[in-house]
Amino acid sequence: MGRRFDASTLVIATHNPGKVREFDDLFRPLGVTLKSASALGLAEPEETGTTFRANAELKALAAAKASGQVALSDDSGLVVPALDGDPGIHSARWAGPTKDFAVAMQRVHDQLVARNVSSSRCRAHFVAALSLAWPDGHCETFQGEIHGQLVWPPRGERGFGYDPMFIPEGHAETFGEMDPAAKHAMSHRAHAFRQLIDGCFRSP
Ligand code: IMP
Repeated sequence: MGRRFDASTLVIATHNPGKVREFDDLFRPLGVTLKSASALGLAEPEETGTTFRANAELKALAAAKASGQVALSDDSGLVVPALDGDPGIHSARWAGPTKDFAVAMQRVHDQLVARNVSSSRCRAHFVAALSLAWPDGHCETFQGEIHGQLVWPPRGERGFGYDPMFIPEGHAETFGEMDPAAKHAMSHRAHAFRQLIDGCFRSP
């Protein structure tokens, strides 16, 4: 059992509206009030870590120290083994300064084609590291994954990021086509979230 969350408000250390929506859905049943880093005007620290875990921890610690409140961050991304793990921790950066994920998905496709790999049915997984940090510098981190395959061209307008080109194992729809509630119940973030709840939110 990690350190327990005993405050009533939690700062969500992300400026990504897609992640904020997913956390709203996940935390609703727990009655925890969420405040987003953008609403508090917190700066986004540079992601200098080389792993999802390291980046999640540096973002959560920066938000906890700046706000003086417990903060939760998510560092996540799409891992394609046929691309040696890319885009991985660089998933957001592949979308460029305008955060255009049509560009990022095209880049995944183009790099697979350059390696003579078909971007349909190519194995891939999403990873999410969730880090809960306190203003005194303590941190608890949990990691979740969802495995599946890529599809080309992308399908569906729901979700965010690389969702339209990812089909989770055992399903026919992409995350971009699926009902958001179904995605939020099975996603990498949901897997990490369940561990976070068991570790830091449930009564002992
Ligand atoms: P970061 O964690 O802020 O560095 O950004 C992670 C990036 O990974 C996001 O901007 C998305 O592009 C991608 N990503 C993470 N989780 C998901 C997801 O659930 N669906 C689609 N893309 C995701």
